[in-house]
Amino acid sequence: MQDTTNSTEPEKRTLNFLEEIIERGLADGTYTKIHTRFPPEPNGYLHIGHAKSICLNFGLAERYGGTTNLRFDDTNPVKEDTEYVDSIQQDIKWLGFHWKEMHYASDYFEQLYEWAELLVTRGLAYVDDQSLEEIRAGRGTVTQPGKESPWRNRSVEENLDLLRRMRNGEFADGEKVLRAKIDMAHPNMQFRDPIMYRILHTDHHRTGNKWCIYPMYDYAHGQSDSIEHITHSICTLEFDIHRPLYDWFIEKLGIWPSHQYEFARLNINYTVMSKRKLLQLVKEGHVSGWDDPRMPTICGFRRRGYTPESIRAFCDRIGVAKRDNVIDYSLLEFSLREHLNKVAPRRMAVLDPVKVVIDNYPEGQTEMLQAVNNPEDECDGTREVPFSRELYIEREDFMEVAPKKFFRMAIGQEVRLRYAYFVTAQSVEKDAEGNITCIHCTYDPATRGGDAPDGRKVKGTIHWVSAQHAIDAEVRLFDRLFATETPDEAPEGKTFLDNLNPDSLHVVTAKCEPSLQETEKECGKWNDGIARYQFERMGYFCTDSDSTPDYLVFNRTCTLKDSWGKMK
Ligand code: ATP
Ligand code: MG
Repeated sequence: MQDTTNSTEPEKRTLNFLEEIIERGLADGTYTKIHTRFPPEPNGYLHIGHAKSICLNFGLAERYGGTTNLRFDDTNPVKEDTEYVDSIQQDIKWLGFHWKEMHYASDYFEQLYEWAELLVTRGLAYVDDQSLEEIRAGRGTVTQPGKESPWRNRSVEENLDLLRRMRNGEFADGEKVLRAKIDMAHPNMQFRDPIMYRILHTDHHRTGNKWCIYPMYDYAHGQSDSIEHITHSICTLEFDIHRPLYDWFIEKLGIWPSHQYEFARLNINYTVMSKRKLLQLVKEGHVSGWDDPRMPTICGFRRRGYTPESIRAFCDRIGVAKRDNVIDYSLLEFSLREHLNKVAPRRMAVLDPVKVVIDNYPEGQTEMLQAVNNPEDECDGTREVPFSRELYIEREDFMEVAPKKFFRMAIGQEVRLRYAYFVTAQSVEKDAEGNITCIHCTYDPATRGGDAPDGRKVKGTIHWVSAQHAIDAEVRLFDRLFATETPDEAPEGKTFLDNLNPDSLHVVTAKCEPSLQETEKECGKWNDGIARYQFERMGYFCTDSDSTPDYLVFNRTCTLKDSWGKMK
Protein backbone atom coordinates (compact mmCIF):
# COMPACT_ATOMS: atom_id res chain seq x y z
CA MET A 1 0.00 0.00 0.00
CA GLN A 2 1.06 3.53 -0.67
CA ASP A 3 2.35 5.58 2.22
CA THR A 4 -0.04 8.51 2.41
CA THR A 5 1.79 10.20 5.27
CA ASN A 6 4.67 10.98 2.92
CA SER A 7 5.63 14.60 3.47
CA THR A 8 6.03 15.25 -0.26
CA GLU A 9 2.28 14.87 -0.68
CA PRO A 10 0.82 18.16 -1.97
CA GLU A 11 -0.88 20.27 0.64
CA LYS A 12 -4.57 19.52 0.88
CA ARG A 13 -6.72 22.52 0.01
CA THR A 14 -9.67 23.22 2.27
CA LEU A 15 -12.82 21.43 1.24
CA ASN A 16 -15.95 23.31 0.35
CA PHE A 17 -19.16 22.29 2.09
CA LEU A 18 -20.26 20.03 -0.77
CA GLU A 19 -16.93 18.20 -0.77
CA GLU A 20 -17.29 17.71 2.97
CA ILE A 21 -20.76 16.24 2.51
CA ILE A 22 -19.52 13.94 -0.23
CA GLU A 23 -16.47 12.76 1.69
CA ARG A 24 -18.63 12.01 4.71
CA GLY A 25 -21.12 10.05 2.61
CA LEU A 26 -18.36 8.07 0.92
CA ALA A 27 -16.71 7.35 4.27
CA ASP A 28 -19.87 6.15 6.03
CA GLY A 29 -21.01 4.10 3.06
CA THR A 30 -24.14 6.13 2.21
CA TYR A 31 -22.98 5.70 -1.38
CA THR A 32 -19.94 4.15 -3.01
CA LYS A 33 -19.94 6.42 -6.04
CA ILE A 34 -21.36 9.86 -6.53
CA HIS A 35 -23.63 10.79 -9.37
CA THR A 36 -24.51 14.39 -10.22
CA ARG A 37 -26.48 16.01 -13.01
CA PHE A 38 -26.60 19.33 -14.82
CA PRO A 39 -30.26 20.13 -15.54
CA PRO A 40 -30.63 23.10 -17.93
CA GLU A 41 -33.98 24.19 -19.21
CA PRO A 42 -33.57 24.45 -23.01
CA ASN A 43 -35.14 27.90 -23.17
CA GLY A 44 -32.01 29.95 -23.86
CA TYR A 45 -28.25 29.79 -24.24
CA LEU A 46 -26.07 29.02 -21.25
CA HIS A 47 -24.46 31.91 -19.41
CA ILE A 48 -21.50 32.23 -17.07
CA GLY A 49 -23.75 31.38 -14.10
CA HIS A 50 -24.50 28.04 -15.72
CA ALA A 51 -20.77 27.56 -16.26
CA LYS A 52 -20.41 27.75 -12.49
CA SER A 53 -23.04 25.06 -12.05
CA ILE A 54 -21.44 22.91 -14.78
CA CYS A 55 -17.97 23.20 -13.25
CA LEU A 56 -19.42 22.30 -9.89
CA ASN A 57 -21.47 19.28 -10.97
CA PHE A 58 -18.94 17.84 -13.39
CA GLY A 59 -15.99 18.93 -11.25
CA LEU A 60 -17.22 17.14 -8.13
CA ALA A 61 -17.90 13.95 -10.07
CA GLU A 62 -14.43 14.09 -11.64
CA ARG A 63 -12.81 14.70 -8.32
CA TYR A 64 -14.51 11.79 -6.59
CA GLY A 65 -14.51 9.31 -9.45
CA GLY A 66 -18.23 9.70 -10.05
CA THR A 67 -20.31 10.54 -13.09
CA THR A 68 -22.54 13.36 -14.30
CA ASN A 69 -25.65 13.26 -16.46
CA LEU A 70 -26.87 16.02 -18.69
CA ARG A 71 -30.61 16.30 -18.32
CA PHE A 72 -32.72 18.74 -20.24
CA ASP A 73 -35.38 19.99 -17.92
CA ASP A 74 -37.93 20.33 -20.70
CA THR A 75 -41.22 20.39 -18.85
CA ASN A 76 -42.41 23.73 -20.22
CA PRO A 77 -43.18 23.33 -23.94
CA VAL A 78 -43.93 27.03 -24.44
CA LYS A 79 -40.39 28.41 -24.40
CA GLU A 80 -38.24 25.45 -25.31
CA ASP A 81 -36.47 24.76 -28.56
CA THR A 82 -33.99 22.32 -30.11
CA GLU A 83 -31.72 25.25 -31.05
CA TYR A 84 -31.08 25.61 -27.32
CA VAL A 85 -30.65 21.86 -26.83
CA ASP A 86 -27.84 21.88 -29.40
CA SER A 87 -26.09 24.98 -28.13
CA ILE A 88 -26.13 23.70 -24.55
CA GLN A 89 -24.35 20.49 -25.55
CA GLN A 90 -21.78 22.41 -27.56
CA ASP A 91 -21.05 24.76 -24.65
CA ILE A 92 -20.59 21.96 -22.11
CA LYS A 93 -18.21 20.14 -24.44
CA TRP A 94 -16.31 23.33 -25.13
CA LEU A 95 -15.82 23.82 -21.39
CA GLY A 96 -14.18 20.40 -21.46
CA PHE A 97 -16.74 18.25 -19.67
CA HIS A 98 -18.27 14.93 -20.68
CA TRP A 99 -21.58 13.62 -19.49
CA LYS A 100 -22.22 9.96 -18.84
CA GLU A 101 -25.79 9.92 -20.09
CA MET A 102 -27.96 12.49 -21.75
CA HIS A 103 -31.61 12.56 -20.77
CA TYR A 104 -34.69 14.66 -21.11
CA ALA A 105 -37.23 15.13 -18.35
CA SER A 106 -39.77 14.58 -21.14
CA ASP A 107 -38.51 10.98 -21.42
CA TYR A 108 -40.05 10.47 -18.00
CA PHE A 109 -43.48 11.91 -18.78
CA GLU A 110 -45.11 8.46 -18.84
CA GLN A 111 -43.48 7.38 -15.57
CA LEU A 112 -44.30 10.69 -13.91
CA TYR A 113 -47.90 10.32 -14.99
CA GLU A 114 -48.11 6.79 -13.61
CA TRP A 115 -46.79 8.08 -10.31
CA ALA A 116 -49.40 10.83 -10.36
CA GLU A 117 -52.13 8.20 -10.65
CA LEU A 118 -50.49 6.33 -7.78
CA LEU A 119 -50.61 9.44 -5.59
CA VAL A 120 -54.27 9.95 -6.52
CA THR A 121 -54.99 6.34 -5.58
CA ARG A 122 -53.31 6.89 -2.24
CA GLY A 123 -55.45 9.94 -1.59
CA LEU A 124 -52.42 12.22 -1.90
CA ALA A 125 -53.47 14.17 -5.00
CA TYR A 126 -56.69 15.66 -6.38
CA VAL A 127 -58.05 17.44 -9.40
CA ASP A 128 -58.92 21.06 -8.70
CA ASP A 129 -61.37 23.04 -10.87
CA GLN A 130 -60.35 26.41 -9.50
CA SER A 131 -58.69 28.91 -11.80
CA LEU A 132 -55.03 29.75 -11.29
CA GLU A 133 -56.08 33.09 -9.76
CA GLU A 134 -58.37 31.38 -7.27
CA ILE A 135 -55.64 28.92 -6.36
CA ARG A 136 -53.16 31.70 -5.87
CA ALA A 137 -55.58 33.67 -3.69
CA GLY A 138 -56.40 30.54 -1.69
CA ARG A 139 -52.78 29.82 -0.80
CA GLY A 140 -52.79 32.41 1.98
CA THR A 141 -49.64 34.22 3.06
CA VAL A 142 -46.62 33.46 5.19
CA THR A 143 -48.56 34.67 8.23
CA GLN A 144 -52.01 33.41 7.20
CA PRO A 145 -53.05 29.86 6.43
CA GLY A 146 -54.51 29.08 3.03
CA LYS A 147 -58.07 28.06 2.22
CA GLU A 148 -58.97 24.55 1.17
CA SER A 149 -60.32 24.18 -2.34
CA PRO A 150 -64.00 23.17 -2.59
CA TRP A 151 -62.78 20.30 -4.83
CA ARG A 152 -60.24 19.03 -2.34
CA ASN A 153 -62.30 16.13 -1.07
CA ARG A 154 -63.28 14.45 -4.30
CA SER A 155 -63.25 10.67 -4.21
CA VAL A 156 -60.28 8.72 -5.51
CA GLU A 157 -62.47 7.38 -8.34
CA GLU A 158 -63.59 10.81 -9.43
CA ASN A 159 -60.03 12.18 -9.26
CA LEU A 160 -58.68 9.30 -11.27
CA ASP A 161 -61.38 9.72 -13.90
CA LEU A 162 -60.79 13.47 -14.16
CA LEU A 163 -57.01 13.08 -14.35
CA ARG A 164 -57.37 10.57 -17.19
CA ARG A 165 -59.71 12.91 -18.99
CA MET A 166 -57.25 15.77 -18.47
CA ARG A 167 -54.63 13.65 -20.13
CA ASN A 168 -57.03 12.73 -22.94
CA GLY A 169 -57.50 16.38 -23.80
CA GLU A 170 -61.12 16.73 -22.71
CA PHE A 171 -60.50 20.05 -20.96
CA ALA A 172 -59.20 23.41 -22.04
CA ASP A 173 -56.03 25.09 -20.80
CA GLY A 174 -56.46 26.29 -17.24
CA GLU A 175 -59.74 24.47 -16.68
CA LYS A 176 -58.29 22.01 -14.19
CA VAL A 177 -55.04 21.19 -12.44
CA LEU A 178 -53.76 18.25 -10.44
CA ARG A 179 -52.60 19.21 -6.95
CA ALA A 180 -50.83 17.31 -4.21
CA LYS A 181 -53.01 16.99 -1.13
CA ILE A 182 -50.79 18.01 1.74
CA ASP A 183 -51.70 20.82 4.15
CA MET A 184 -53.23 24.21 3.33
CA ALA A 185 -52.12 25.56 6.70
CA HIS A 186 -48.51 24.41 6.46
CA PRO A 187 -45.98 27.07 7.53
CA ASN A 188 -43.94 26.26 4.38
CA MET A 189 -46.07 27.66 1.55
CA GLN A 190 -44.67 25.02 -0.80
CA PHE A 191 -46.71 22.45 1.08
CA ARG A 192 -50.05 24.17 0.53
CA ASP A 193 -51.28 21.71 -2.03
CA PRO A 194 -48.72 22.49 -4.76
CA ILE A 195 -49.77 22.08 -8.38
CA MET A 196 -48.39 18.92 -9.98
CA TYR A 197 -49.89 19.13 -13.49
CA ARG A 198 -51.42 21.83 -15.62
CA ILE A 199 -53.21 21.60 -18.94
CA LEU A 200 -51.36 23.10 -21.91
CA HIS A 201 -52.50 22.33 -25.42
CA THR A 202 -49.09 23.15 -26.82
CA ASP A 203 -46.76 21.01 -28.91
CA HIS A 204 -43.57 19.99 -27.19
CA HIS A 205 -40.23 20.13 -29.02
CA ARG A 206 -39.76 16.40 -28.42
CA THR A 207 -43.06 14.79 -27.56
CA GLY A 208 -45.03 16.71 -30.20
CA ASN A 209 -48.75 16.62 -29.45
CA LYS A 210 -48.64 13.45 -27.37
CA TRP A 211 -49.26 15.34 -24.14
CA CYS A 212 -51.56 18.17 -23.23
CA ILE A 213 -50.80 18.03 -19.52
CA TYR A 214 -47.32 18.93 -18.33
CA PRO A 215 -45.70 18.36 -14.93
CA MET A 216 -44.51 21.29 -12.82
CA TYR A 217 -40.83 21.65 -11.90
CA ASP A 218 -41.37 20.49 -8.32
CA TYR A 219 -43.19 17.38 -9.39
CA ALA A 220 -40.73 16.48 -12.15
CA HIS A 221 -37.29 17.34 -10.83
CA GLY A 222 -36.82 15.12 -7.79
CA GLN A 223 -38.39 12.11 -9.47
CA SER A 224 -36.17 12.57 -12.52
CA ASP A 225 -33.16 12.67 -10.18
CA SER A 226 -34.44 9.53 -8.49
CA ILE A 227 -34.89 7.65 -11.78
CA GLU A 228 -31.25 8.41 -12.65
CA HIS A 229 -30.02 7.62 -9.11
CA ILE A 230 -28.54 11.07 -8.67
CA THR A 231 -26.80 11.13 -5.29
CA HIS A 232 -26.28 14.90 -5.15
CA SER A 233 -28.87 17.08 -6.82
CA ILE A 234 -27.13 20.43 -6.64
CA CYS A 235 -29.11 23.60 -7.26
CA THR A 236 -29.14 27.26 -6.36
CA LEU A 237 -30.20 28.65 -2.98
CA GLU A 238 -33.69 29.78 -3.92
CA PHE A 239 -34.68 26.13 -4.09
CA ASP A 240 -33.97 25.43 -0.44
CA ILE A 241 -37.61 26.02 0.48
CA HIS A 242 -38.55 23.47 -2.18
CA ARG A 243 -36.36 20.76 -0.66
CA PRO A 244 -38.96 19.44 1.82
CA LEU A 245 -41.38 19.02 -1.08
CA TYR A 246 -38.64 17.33 -3.15
CA ASP A 247 -38.25 14.86 -0.28
CA TRP A 248 -42.03 14.51 0.21
CA PHE A 249 -42.73 13.23 -3.31
CA ILE A 250 -39.82 10.77 -3.15
CA GLU A 251 -40.93 9.50 0.24
CA LYS A 252 -44.62 9.15 -0.65
CA LEU A 253 -43.74 7.33 -3.87
CA GLY A 254 -41.22 5.15 -2.06
CA ILE A 255 -38.63 5.59 -4.80
CA TRP A 256 -34.82 5.81 -4.81
CA PRO A 257 -33.82 8.65 -2.45
CA SER A 258 -31.96 11.43 -4.25
CA HIS A 259 -31.00 14.41 -2.14
CA GLN A 260 -30.93 18.09 -2.96
CA TYR A 261 -28.16 20.49 -1.88
CA GLU A 262 -28.11 24.22 -2.47
CA PHE A 263 -25.32 26.70 -3.16
CA ALA A 264 -25.27 30.45 -3.89
CA ARG A 265 -25.80 31.38 -7.52
CA LEU A 266 -23.09 33.29 -9.30
CA ASN A 267 -23.68 36.99 -9.83
CA ILE A 268 -21.17 39.25 -11.59
CA ASN A 269 -21.25 43.02 -11.63
CA TYR A 270 -21.93 44.95 -14.86
CA THR A 271 -23.90 41.93 -16.09
CA VAL A 272 -27.43 40.61 -16.29
CA MET A 273 -27.81 36.88 -16.03
CA SER A 274 -31.45 36.08 -16.49
CA LYS A 275 -32.21 34.20 -19.67
CA ARG A 276 -35.34 36.29 -20.13
CA LYS A 277 -33.27 39.48 -20.22
CA LEU A 278 -30.58 37.97 -22.41
CA LEU A 279 -33.27 36.86 -24.85
CA GLN A 280 -34.65 40.40 -24.86
CA LEU A 281 -31.22 41.82 -25.70
CA VAL A 282 -31.02 39.43 -28.66
CA LYS A 283 -34.61 39.84 -29.86
CA GLU A 284 -34.57 43.61 -29.73
CA GLY A 285 -31.21 43.81 -31.49
CA HIS A 286 -29.22 45.44 -28.68
CA VAL A 287 -26.56 42.84 -29.46
CA SER A 288 -25.80 40.88 -32.63
CA GLY A 289 -26.94 37.54 -31.20
CA TRP A 290 -26.54 35.13 -28.28
CA ASP A 291 -22.84 34.89 -29.15
CA ASP A 292 -22.21 38.61 -29.37
CA PRO A 293 -18.79 38.97 -27.72
CA ARG A 294 -20.29 41.39 -25.16
CA MET A 295 -22.82 38.83 -23.93
CA PRO A 296 -22.24 36.93 -20.66
CA THR A 297 -23.22 33.73 -22.44
CA ILE A 298 -20.72 30.90 -22.76
CA CYS A 299 -20.82 31.23 -26.56
CA GLY A 300 -20.33 35.00 -26.17
CA PHE A 301 -17.24 34.46 -24.04
CA ARG A 302 -15.99 31.90 -26.53
CA ARG A 303 -16.38 34.30 -29.44
CA ARG A 304 -14.75 37.01 -27.34
CA GLY A 305 -11.66 34.80 -27.09
CA TYR A 306 -12.01 33.43 -23.57
CA THR A 307 -10.50 29.99 -23.16
CA PRO A 308 -12.35 27.15 -21.42
CA GLU A 309 -9.39 26.88 -19.07
CA SER A 310 -9.80 30.48 -17.95
CA ILE A 311 -13.51 30.04 -17.24
CA ARG A 312 -12.87 26.86 -15.29
CA ALA A 313 -10.11 28.54 -13.32
CA PHE A 314 -12.46 31.42 -12.54
CA CYS A 315 -15.19 29.09 -11.30
CA ASP A 316 -12.68 27.28 -9.17
CA ARG A 317 -11.26 30.48 -7.78
CA ILE A 318 -14.59 31.92 -6.65
CA GLY A 319 -15.40 28.73 -4.78
CA VAL A 320 -18.79 27.51 -3.60
CA ALA A 321 -20.71 29.69 -1.22
CA LYS A 322 -23.81 29.22 0.88
CA ARG A 323 -24.60 32.97 0.84
CA ASP A 324 -25.40 35.14 -2.17
CA ASN A 325 -22.73 37.60 -3.27
CA VAL A 326 -21.59 39.54 -6.31
CA ILE A 327 -18.28 38.72 -7.94
CA ASP A 328 -16.16 41.42 -9.52
CA TYR A 329 -15.88 41.21 -13.28
CA SER A 330 -12.16 41.88 -12.98
CA LEU A 331 -11.72 38.46 -11.38
CA LEU A 332 -12.96 36.85 -14.57
CA GLU A 333 -10.48 38.85 -16.63
CA PHE A 334 -7.75 38.02 -14.15
CA SER A 335 -8.20 34.31 -14.84
CA LEU A 336 -8.32 35.05 -18.54
CA ARG A 337 -5.07 37.04 -18.61
CA GLU A 338 -3.37 34.49 -16.43
CA HIS A 339 -4.04 31.81 -19.03
CA LEU A 340 -3.60 33.83 -22.21
CA ASN A 341 -0.29 35.23 -20.96
CA LYS A 342 1.03 31.69 -20.94
CA VAL A 343 -0.36 30.48 -24.23
CA ALA A 344 -1.03 33.39 -26.58
CA PRO A 345 1.66 34.07 -29.20
CA ARG A 346 2.73 37.71 -29.47
CA ARG A 347 2.25 39.75 -32.60
CA MET A 348 2.46 43.40 -33.54
CA ALA A 349 -0.56 45.32 -34.77
CA VAL A 350 -1.22 49.04 -34.86
CA LEU A 351 -4.83 49.90 -34.06
CA ASP A 352 -4.72 53.66 -34.67
CA PRO A 353 -1.94 54.09 -37.22
CA VAL A 354 0.14 57.14 -38.05
CA LYS A 355 2.90 57.00 -40.66
CA VAL A 356 6.59 57.15 -39.72
CA VAL A 357 9.38 57.69 -42.27
CA ILE A 358 12.98 56.93 -41.31
CA ASP A 359 14.77 59.46 -43.46
CA ASN A 360 18.28 57.96 -43.16
CA TYR A 361 17.15 54.38 -43.87
CA PRO A 362 17.92 53.18 -47.43
CA GLU A 363 14.98 53.51 -49.75
CA GLY A 364 13.67 50.21 -51.12
CA GLN A 365 15.45 48.13 -48.46
CA THR A 366 13.71 45.49 -46.37
CA GLU A 367 15.34 43.49 -43.61
CA MET A 368 13.92 40.67 -41.58
CA LEU A 369 14.16 40.99 -37.81
CA GLN A 370 13.80 38.23 -35.25
CA ALA A 371 10.84 38.52 -32.91
CA VAL A 372 10.11 36.28 -29.94
CA ASN A 373 6.76 34.50 -30.22
CA ASN A 374 6.12 34.08 -26.54
CA PRO A 375 8.52 35.10 -23.78
CA GLU A 376 6.58 32.79 -21.43
CA ASP A 377 7.20 29.77 -23.61
CA GLU A 378 10.58 29.23 -25.25
CA CYS A 379 9.26 26.33 -27.32
CA ASP A 380 7.18 28.82 -29.23
CA GLY A 381 10.35 30.04 -30.96
CA THR A 382 10.76 33.16 -33.03
CA ARG A 383 9.46 34.59 -36.25
CA GLU A 384 10.71 37.12 -38.76
CA VAL A 385 9.19 40.56 -39.02
CA PRO A 386 9.97 42.80 -42.01
CA PHE A 387 11.37 46.26 -41.36
CA SER A 388 11.59 49.04 -43.92
CA ARG A 389 11.84 52.78 -44.33
CA GLU A 390 8.14 53.50 -43.81
CA LEU A 391 6.30 52.23 -40.77
CA TYR A 392 3.10 52.66 -38.80
CA ILE A 393 3.05 53.32 -35.08
CA GLU A 394 0.13 54.08 -32.73
CA ARG A 395 -0.94 57.68 -32.94
CA GLU A 396 -0.96 57.87 -29.13
CA ASP A 397 2.69 56.78 -29.01
CA PHE A 398 3.82 60.13 -30.39
CA MET A 399 3.72 63.64 -28.95
CA GLU A 400 5.35 66.64 -30.51
CA VAL A 401 6.22 68.07 -27.14
CA ALA A 402 6.57 65.38 -24.52
CA PRO A 403 5.63 66.03 -20.92
CA LYS A 404 8.08 64.75 -18.30
CA LYS A 405 6.83 61.21 -17.94
CA PHE A 406 6.13 60.56 -21.60
CA PHE A 407 8.83 58.08 -22.66
CA ARG A 408 7.50 57.18 -26.05
CA MET A 409 8.22 58.97 -29.32
CA ALA A 410 8.64 62.76 -29.24
CA ILE A 411 10.67 65.27 -31.19
CA GLY A 412 14.29 64.83 -30.17
CA GLN A 413 13.56 61.90 -27.83
CA GLU A 414 15.12 58.55 -28.63
CA VAL A 415 12.84 55.52 -28.36
CA ARG A 416 13.21 51.81 -29.11
CA LEU A 417 11.24 50.17 -31.86
CA ARG A 418 10.54 46.67 -30.56
CA TYR A 419 12.98 44.10 -32.03
CA ALA A 420 14.36 46.80 -34.36
CA TYR A 421 16.30 50.03 -33.82
CA PHE A 422 16.54 53.14 -31.72
CA VAL A 423 14.89 56.02 -33.57
CA THR A 424 14.56 59.73 -32.90
CA ALA A 425 11.73 61.87 -34.24
CA GLN A 426 12.89 64.99 -36.05
CA SER A 427 9.84 66.65 -37.59
CA VAL A 428 6.20 66.16 -38.52
CA GLU A 429 3.93 66.82 -41.49
CA LYS A 430 0.37 68.00 -40.86
CA ASP A 431 -2.81 68.34 -42.85
CA ALA A 432 -4.89 71.52 -43.17
CA GLU A 433 -6.66 70.80 -39.85
CA GLY A 434 -3.38 70.39 -38.05
CA ASN A 435 -3.52 66.60 -37.72
CA ILE A 436 -0.19 64.84 -37.94
CA THR A 437 0.01 62.84 -41.14
CA CYS A 438 3.64 61.77 -41.02
CA ILE A 439 6.49 61.68 -38.53
CA HIS A 440 10.06 61.96 -39.82
CA CYS A 441 12.70 60.09 -37.84
CA THR A 442 16.32 59.08 -37.99
CA TYR A 443 17.60 55.72 -36.79
CA ASP A 444 20.87 54.44 -35.38
CA PRO A 445 21.99 51.43 -37.50
CA ALA A 446 24.18 50.21 -34.60
CA THR A 447 21.12 49.45 -32.46
CA ARG A 448 19.75 46.62 -34.60
CA GLY A 449 17.88 44.15 -32.40
CA GLY A 450 16.97 46.92 -30.01
CA ASP A 451 20.12 47.54 -27.94
CA ALA A 452 22.91 50.08 -28.25
CA PRO A 453 26.51 48.81 -28.31
CA ASP A 454 27.64 51.86 -26.33
CA GLY A 455 25.23 50.85 -23.56
CA ARG A 456 23.05 53.95 -23.83
CA LYS A 457 19.51 53.40 -22.68
CA VAL A 458 16.12 54.56 -23.84
CA LYS A 459 13.13 54.69 -21.55
CA GLY A 460 10.43 53.62 -23.96
CA THR A 461 9.77 50.77 -26.38
CA ILE A 462 6.95 50.97 -28.89
CA HIS A 463 5.52 48.54 -31.42
CA TRP A 464 5.33 49.19 -35.14
CA VAL A 465 4.46 47.60 -38.46
CA SER A 466 6.24 48.02 -41.78
CA ALA A 467 3.88 50.05 -44.00
CA GLN A 468 4.51 48.24 -47.26
CA HIS A 469 4.18 44.81 -45.62
CA ALA A 470 1.24 45.57 -43.33
CA ILE A 471 -2.03 43.74 -43.75
CA ASP A 472 -5.34 45.35 -42.88
CA ALA A 473 -7.71 43.80 -40.39
CA GLU A 474 -11.00 44.82 -38.90
CA VAL A 475 -10.63 44.98 -35.15
CA ARG A 476 -13.60 45.13 -32.80
CA LEU A 477 -12.92 46.84 -29.52
CA PHE A 478 -15.44 46.18 -26.78
CA ASP A 479 -16.32 47.97 -23.65
CA ARG A 480 -18.67 46.68 -20.98
CA LEU A 481 -22.21 46.11 -22.22
CA PHE A 482 -23.74 47.87 -19.23
CA ALA A 483 -22.64 51.20 -17.87
CA THR A 484 -23.76 50.50 -14.32
CA GLU A 485 -22.49 47.96 -11.86
CA THR A 486 -25.95 46.56 -11.07
CA PRO A 487 -27.82 46.78 -14.39
CA ASP A 488 -30.81 44.90 -12.97
CA GLU A 489 -31.53 47.85 -10.72
CA ALA A 490 -33.32 50.51 -12.73
CA PRO A 491 -35.07 53.57 -11.32
CA GLU A 492 -38.87 54.02 -11.54
CA GLY A 493 -40.12 53.95 -15.10
CA LYS A 494 -36.81 52.64 -16.48
CA THR A 495 -35.63 49.13 -17.26
CA PHE A 496 -32.30 47.35 -17.35
CA LEU A 497 -32.09 48.42 -21.02
CA ASP A 498 -31.65 52.01 -19.89
CA ASN A 499 -28.42 50.87 -18.24
CA LEU A 500 -26.89 49.71 -21.52
CA ASN A 501 -23.60 51.35 -22.37
CA PRO A 502 -24.25 53.17 -25.68
CA ASP A 503 -20.54 53.00 -26.46
CA SER A 504 -19.71 49.34 -26.00
CA LEU A 505 -18.40 48.63 -29.50
CA HIS A 506 -15.76 50.41 -31.58
CA VAL A 507 -14.60 49.09 -34.91
CA VAL A 508 -11.21 50.12 -36.32
CA THR A 509 -9.02 49.08 -39.21
CA ALA A 510 -5.67 47.98 -37.88
CA LYS A 511 -2.31 47.57 -39.63
CA CYS A 512 -0.96 44.14 -38.75
CA GLU A 513 2.38 42.44 -39.19
CA PRO A 514 2.28 40.09 -42.20
CA SER A 515 2.68 36.89 -40.18
CA LEU A 516 -0.96 37.34 -39.18
CA GLN A 517 -1.73 36.16 -42.69
CA GLU A 518 -1.07 32.71 -41.27
CA THR A 519 -3.91 33.07 -38.85
CA GLU A 520 -5.73 30.14 -40.34
CA LYS A 521 -2.80 27.88 -39.49
CA GLU A 522 -2.76 29.27 -35.96
CA CYS A 523 -6.50 28.53 -35.60
CA GLY A 524 -5.75 24.86 -36.17
CA LYS A 525 -3.58 24.79 -33.06
CA TRP A 526 -6.49 25.67 -30.81
CA ASN A 527 -9.09 23.08 -29.82
CA ASP A 528 -11.97 25.35 -30.73
CA GLY A 529 -10.43 26.68 -33.94
CA ILE A 530 -10.19 30.22 -32.59
CA ALA A 531 -6.71 31.72 -32.74
CA ARG A 532 -5.73 33.91 -29.81
CA TYR A 533 -2.87 36.40 -29.80
CA GLN A 534 -1.39 39.04 -27.69
CA PHE A 535 -1.00 42.15 -29.82
CA GLU A 536 1.94 43.64 -27.99
CA ARG A 537 0.95 46.46 -25.67
CA MET A 538 -2.64 46.45 -26.99
CA GLY A 539 -4.22 43.43 -25.35
CA TYR A 540 -5.36 39.93 -26.18
CA PHE A 541 -7.19 39.38 -29.44
CA CYS A 542 -8.84 36.48 -31.21
CA THR A 543 -10.08 35.67 -34.67
CA ASP A 544 -13.77 36.32 -35.13
CA SER A 545 -16.08 33.96 -37.00
CA ASP A 546 -16.78 36.77 -39.50
CA SER A 547 -13.20 36.41 -40.81
CA THR A 548 -12.68 35.09 -44.32
CA PRO A 549 -9.37 34.14 -45.98
CA ASP A 550 -9.25 37.61 -47.57
CA TYR A 551 -10.69 39.62 -44.74
CA LEU A 552 -9.40 39.30 -41.21
CA VAL A 553 -11.58 40.22 -38.26
CA PHE A 554 -10.26 40.25 -34.71
CA ASN A 555 -12.03 40.76 -31.42
CA ARG A 556 -10.24 42.34 -28.53
CA THR A 557 -10.67 39.77 -25.77
CA CYS A 558 -9.32 42.09 -23.08
CA THR A 559 -6.73 44.75 -22.53
CA LEU A 560 -3.43 43.88 -20.88
CA LYS A 561 -4.31 45.64 -17.67
CA ASP A 562 -7.45 45.58 -15.63
CA SER A 563 -9.87 48.25 -16.75
CA TRP A 564 -12.81 47.04 -14.66
CA GLY A 565 -11.46 47.37 -11.17
CA LYS A 566 -10.28 50.95 -11.49
CA MET A 567 -13.62 52.22 -12.78
CA LYS A 568 -15.04 52.24 -9.27
P1 ATP B 1 -31.95 31.82 -15.41
O1 ATP B 1 -32.56 32.28 -14.13
O2 ATP B 1 -30.71 32.52 -15.80
O3 ATP B 1 -32.92 31.76 -16.54
P2 ATP B 1 -32.31 29.13 -14.68
O4 ATP B 1 -31.99 28.74 -13.29
O5 ATP B 1 -33.71 29.26 -14.99
O6 ATP B 1 -31.45 30.38 -15.10
P3 ATP B 1 -31.74 26.57 -15.77
O7 ATP B 1 -31.57 26.22 -17.18
O8 ATP B 1 -32.91 26.07 -15.05
O9 ATP B 1 -31.69 28.14 -15.72
O10 ATP B 1 -30.43 26.26 -14.97
C1 ATP B 1 -29.71 25.07 -15.08
C2 ATP B 1 -28.85 24.91 -13.87
O11 ATP B 1 -27.94 26.01 -13.76
C3 ATP B 1 -29.67 24.89 -12.60
O12 ATP B 1 -29.18 23.87 -11.76
C4 ATP B 1 -29.44 26.25 -12.01
O13 ATP B 1 -29.52 26.21 -10.62
C5 ATP B 1 -28.02 26.58 -12.49
N1 ATP B 1 -27.83 28.01 -12.57
C6 ATP B 1 -28.56 28.91 -13.27
N2 ATP B 1 -28.12 30.16 -13.07
C7 ATP B 1 -27.05 30.06 -12.23
C8 ATP B 1 -26.15 31.01 -11.64
N3 ATP B 1 -26.25 32.31 -11.88
N4 ATP B 1 -25.18 30.53 -10.83
C9 ATP B 1 -25.07 29.22 -10.60
N5 ATP B 1 -25.87 28.28 -11.10
C10 ATP B 1 -26.86 28.69 -11.92
MG1 MG C 1 -34.65 27.12 -13.95
